Amino acid sequence: MEHFSQYLAALARANGLGDNITWLFYPGMLLDSYGKWWDDFGTRPCAHEGIDICFFREGSKKITPLAKNANIPAMDKGLILNRCKDFLGESLVIAHDGIAPLSPKVVFVYSHLEVEEKIVPGCRVERGQVIGRTFDTSKKQSKLLSHLHFSCVELMDKIPLENLNWDLFPDRGKVNLINPIFI
Ligand SMILES: [Zn+2]
Repeated sequence: MEHFSQYLAALARANGLGDNITWLFYPGMLLDSYGKWWDDFGTRPCAHEGIDICFFREGSKKITPLAKNANIPAMDKGLILNRCKDFLGESLVIAHDGIAPLSPKVVFVYSHLEVEEKIVPGCRVERGQVIGRTFDTSKKQSKLLSHLHFSCVELMDKIPLENLNWDLFPDRGKVNLINPIFI
């Protein structure tokens, strides 16, 4: 829980939002939800594989979504394992060696990004380093707002790094999805 709440604070700081921010989550934004939080608020094609981070409120001001090109920092220091397409933008798969006591088999997936050019597999990132910006969903006429999708994926088997992608992450026979809120 500590890592996730600290990460939300880091996300606010990376976007100049200050300390008085409350993040807000619709049920459809949470792990394992079948609900959509956009468009017709209908049903997702499969259970949600992580958490969607978008809405916040500063003090008593009105609820605001993240900007189209919000800075996305790394939760902790780590190694970039893969960079792959997702249905909006790109995803980064990172091994965060600083997050104990999670198993070394857990990887972290940051999705719907426009990734920094220099952030490629094999390079290391520091805690709080900006690794990309939220994908501008208006480019794809998507009814989704720009947001960060974040997953914690425990790998059951040894998997080639290039296969750490969206063919794998929804496959509950091959991965165990951990609720990011509790890390
Ligand atoms: Zn999502």
